[in-house]
Amino acid sequence: MKSIPALFPDETIFSVVQRLVTMECASSYRHAAKSLFQKSSMQFSSTFPSVVPVLSIRFDCSPEYWINHHSVLPHYRPFTPEGRFRNALSHLKKGESEKVFKDLSLIANRQCSGLQMRFCPQCAIEDNDAYGFSYWHVKHQLSGAFVCLRHKTPLVNQSISRKRFDNWPCYDAAGRRLATEVELKLVRFAHYFQHHESKGFRHDLCDIFKASLHEKGFLTKCAYVRLKALRNSMIESLEPVLCHADVQAIFDDTRSPLYPTCVLSNKRSAISPLKHLLMMTFLFDSVSDLINHDISYSQKVIWANTRSSGQERDDIAGIRKALNRGDSLRNVAAETGHSVAYIKKVAISTGYSIESRAQKLFATERRQVIWKLLAGSSTETIARQFDCSQGAIEQILSQNPDVVTLRKLRRKYTKMKSMRQSLTETIRSITTPRRQDMKCENNTAYMWLYKNDRQWLYTHLPTAIPRNLRRRKPLSD
Ligand SMILES: [Zn+2]
Repeated sequence: MKSIPALFPDETIFSVVQRLVTMECASSYRHAAKSLFQKSSMQFSSTFPSVVPVLSIRFDCSPEYWINHHSVLPHYRPFTPEGRFRNALSHLKKGESEKVFKDLSLIANRQCSGLQMRFCPQCAIEDNDAYGFSYWHVKHQLSGAFVCLRHKTPLVNQSISRKRFDNWPCYDAAGRRLATEVELKLVRFAHYFQHHESKGFRHDLCDIFKASLHEKGFLTKCAYVRLKALRNSMIESLEPVLCHADVQAIFDDTRSPLYPTCVLSNKRSAISPLKHLLMMTFLFDSVSDLINHDISYSQKVIWANTRSSGQERDDIAGIRKALNRGDSLRNVAAETGHSVAYIKKVAISTGYSIESRAQKLFATERRQVIWKLLAGSSTETIARQFDCSQGAIEQILSQNPDVVTLRKLRRKYTKMKSMRQSLTETIRSITTPRRQDMKCENNTAYMWLYKNDRQWLYTHLPTAIPRNLRRRKPLSD
């Protein structure tokens, strides 16, 4: 085994690779990389470099050691479902860099810009004094690390050339300003989660977030999130970090559902750490505030505060009254503003017998249902014909988006036909019709056609009277 360089605290794998390559005796860096790693085209500078297996043999220390002390992967653990994180870990150990991105949903989260690294100019100077050169730190590469927590100054972004091995922090070019409180709070959360798992928490992060949102008045009476108000407040409060492209991309992403819905509802997906860290920065004063919220969390408190028991009693009395009248579950739900499931629960708990119908249909029946849906029959009628629940028919419909589009077109066409007919009748009913009369006599058809079928409307309306000849009041026949 050749002599190997000492590993520096918090040094990234890429930094170690560069040092190894520059120390290797070879005609070029490319040749040096090839002799060290058998290939010269590996993912050296990637967020998840594919050199872990080679390095663990060369340095005689476990792949886990490399990953835990010299990569950003541990930072993803608290925000990734356990199974998916295990896969990511095992792929990185085997050097399958591409698969790690997939395991962590980084492609779907659009968080794989790569080829840029961050450093703190002050840390770079101190490293140079202590070790004779400046290296890349892991903690500066974490999501949400835009400033150095040690020196309270902004980190500098530097482009990395994938084909070169002399990418080192260029600290001469750095400007200076003090980090804002929001930037510091964000980086404190980022550092904390690099070495602490969310497993240590008693509750899911999204539940802790909801408890805090409730305190801050962002939950409705039914414990739903006031998303628009929350987004606006977040944008206002996180203004000092909005200039960073990663943060901007999260708020600019117009895919539905909008941020921050994902961190409040999706417990089973891998969500990018930055999305969680921004929410923490917005909601909590510090890491200990977050921990305190976890300790004092109680779902019952949220429920009791958002819905008073008196209000609930009134609701239940109203539901019983409607059920006594013989209204369907759906009608009661629409009338009282609750879900069908909730009405069903109340009905069962108060002793009403519910006539339940089949929830599933076989393939032949499903095909027949699709034909009926295409023909424009209502879901209620079809459910009656097949003696199944309306929900089962709606489920088939939702699985066939083309049928939904066709049904919409069909409904629009039928409406258009009736609106055209209605306006034509109005025109015929007036002896000397004027446009203004049409609007007064049949405003519904006029406005519908104006919005949806303007060309037809203008070709069938009487000719417009020139402005100077118009009278103020319409003629009445
Ligand atoms: Zn620093």
